[in-house]
Amino acid sequence: MPVRDLVVMANRLPIDETVSDSGVREWRRSPGGLVSALHPVLRDGGATWIGWAGATGPAPVVPDVDGVRLRAVPLSDDEFENYYEGFANSTLWPLYHDAVEQPVFHRRWWESYQRVNRRFAAVAAQVSPPGSMVWVHDYHLQLVPGMLRGLRPDLCIGFFMHVPFPPPELFKQLPPRAELLRSLLGADLVGFQTTGGAQNFLRLTNQVLGLRVSRSTVAVDDRTVKVGSFPISIDVADIETLARSPEVLARAAKIREDLGQPDRIMLGVDRLDYTKGIEHRLKAYRELLADGRVKVPDTVLVQVAVPSRERVEHYRALRDKVEREVGGLNGEYGRLGVPAVHYLNSSFNRTELAALYRAADVMVVTPLRDGMNLVAKEYVTSRVDHGGALVLSEFAGAAHELKQAFLVNPHDLDALKDSLVRALEADPSETAKRMRAMRRYVREHDVGRWARGYLNALVPQ
Ligand code: UDP
Repeated sequence: MPVRDLVVMANRLPIDETVSDSGVREWRRSPGGLVSALHPVLRDGGATWIGWAGATGPAPVVPDVDGVRLRAVPLSDDEFENYYEGFANSTLWPLYHDAVEQPVFHRRWWESYQRVNRRFAAVAAQVSPPGSMVWVHDYHLQLVPGMLRGLRPDLCIGFFMHVPFPPPELFKQLPPRAELLRSLLGADLVGFQTTGGAQNFLRLTNQVLGLRVSRSTVAVDDRTVKVGSFPISIDVADIETLARSPEVLARAAKIREDLGQPDRIMLGVDRLDYTKGIEHRLKAYRELLADGRVKVPDTVLVQVAVPSRERVEHYRALRDKVEREVGGLNGEYGRLGVPAVHYLNSSFNRTELAALYRAADVMVVTPLRDGMNLVAKEYVTSRVDHGGALVLSEFAGAAHELKQAFLVNPHDLDALKDSLVRALEADPSETAKRMRAMRRYVREHDVGRWARGYLNALVPQ
């Protein structure tokens, strides 16, 4: 279902520049993420994608990907620091994730955020065909709907928030809270991952702006803005095909062999982010080892920790803490050639991830707060054999859908330990039953349905 003339806006364009060994520069479609999510609706529809190309300085000319025109928005070094690392990732990101780290407010960050949002809106105003749909994504671009409506009232504007939207008590800390809310209401539809996020937004517009709200609308000026929840998903068919491939099966077997054929493999796959609960997970594992409830080498933990936002102080501190803890665990409980934690501080491609998913007996997803958590859905989808078990934090958006997971409050260390042991020791008939139910759910709610559902709510067909 390609949508004609759709314009997508996100902080990043769906491409990365790579440099080959011989020094040839080339643009490649970025793996995963929003681009695969939107592929079915963008393909062949004459769509445009507006975003930053990933390097500071003048905007490069970038090639089309899969028939989608790309328009690069430039960011200066100063804007990268203030708009991106500052307001987006040191103010909004921690605040929207329950303030698990202290949000920082600086007026110069906010000024830069406004400037960059204005630039994005100006590009959209310039390239969008008359009356077309513009779909704005995520917390980096919250001012765009209002700015764009001011420039181009003919457009149909949608906004989707990929991260959690916090309760009023937290959101109200933001100095520019009224501006952010008012600008989001420049959209015709404001979408969130969960009903909780949508309700927070409705309460806030009422409390901060004094607007009249219903269960799913806000009356603003002479317009009615729709508000709803649209939990994002993954490309199920694509992942299933990959997970069934001989290459992935062979690689999964090799991973088990390389790990020394342990009885049980636990797996964590996260960006190295303080919202992901990696420290809580390591602590639970350490106590289980200390209590003798799990033993190396019968059980091992593989932790993929993808480097992320490495210049931001909170992230540097987290990396130090996690690596110290991994070192401590391995020093105390590892054996020669058999570490307790196999810690991988790098990013893996889809094939390697699918093999890890297929090799893992227990997938441990324990964020303290997460908009959705696609890794959880990818794991379930990869288990075409109905094997494996998922331990999932109640605070991930995915927990509202994957109800047959071993759900847990990651702050409750004893509960976390018990959930890990229950998942490790569960009867295969029980885990298969849970997996079958979760797989059925994700298959029926794949990313195509998400995109169609959102666009249909924006402009009923
Ligand atoms: N991912 C990846 N390589 C890795 C680890 C993760 O491509 O080494 C992908 C993973 O498949 C998933 C995404 O990164 O699609 C992470 O999404 P998620 O919603 O779990 O967390 P986020 O990083 O967006 O907070």
